[in-house]
Amino acid sequence: MAKKTILVVEDEEDIQQLITFHLIKENFFVICADDGDECLRKFHEEHIDLIILDIMLPGKSGLEVCKAIRQESKGATVPIIMLTARSEERDIIEGLETGADDYITKPFSPKVLMARVKAHLRRKDELDSRRQPESAKMALPMGITLNLDLHQVTIDGKEVELTVSEFNILRFLASRPDRVFSRQQIIDEIRGDGYEVTARAVDVQIHGLRKKLGEAGSLIETVRGVGYRFRADE
Ligand code: CA
Repeated sequence: MAKKTILVVEDEEDIQQLITFHLIKENFFVICADDGDECLRKFHEEHIDLIILDIMLPGKSGLEVCKAIRQESKGATVPIIMLTARSEERDIIEGLETGADDYITKPFSPKVLMARVKAHLRRKDELDSRRQPESAKMALPMGITLNLDLHQVTIDGKEVELTVSEFNILRFLASRPDRVFSRQQIIDEIRGDGYEVTARAVDVQIHGLRKKLGEAGSLIETVRGVGYRFRADE
C-alpha cells in the first residue's frame, strides 16, 4: 500500500496526540485539525485518504462536518470513522445516516482503531479497482454471487430464492462491506417496494434472508442497538 494520509479531527489534545502517535507508527501521514472548520479547510487543501472525526467538537459538530464532506464530490467516498462517547447511541445512528462508514466509542483501544483504519483503506482500494468495468455481477464471500440484472442470487452455483426486499437488502449491505447501516437507512433503500416498512419489518427481512443463505447468513451481522453490516471476510 502506498503511504496514505489520515486527517485526524479531535479537539482534545491528548487524544489527538495518541491517535497521531499510533498512525505514524503504522507508517501513515497524519494531518490534524482541532475543529470542524479546520477539518473542512484541510480536506480541501490536501489529498486525504481517510478521516477520523470526533463528534464532540467546538463549533460545528462532527455530524455537521460529516454531512458537509459527503455533499461534495471530493468527499463522496472518503472513508470516515467517527469517534463518539459510549453513551451517545443516537449520535452513532445519526453519524451513520449522515454518511460515516464506521464508529469507535471512547475510550477506545488504539490497536482496534488502527485495525479499522486499515480495513477501511483496503476496502476503499478494492472498491475503486472493482468500479471499472461496470459488472452486473457481485462476487461475495462464501460463494455468494449476485446477478444484478436478473435479481438472482446463487451460492456455489445453486440458486437461492429471495424476495425482492431480501434481494435489495442483501445488495445494499454487500455494496459497502463492513459498513454499518442503521435500520432507517435500510428502510429508505427498500421503501420503493410498495408497502410500509418499519424497523421491525427490517429485522424480519434480515431474519428470513439469513435463513435462506444458510451458513453464509452469518456474513450479515447484527450491530446491537445500531443496525446491520455485511462482513467482508469469511
Ligand atoms: Ca472532542
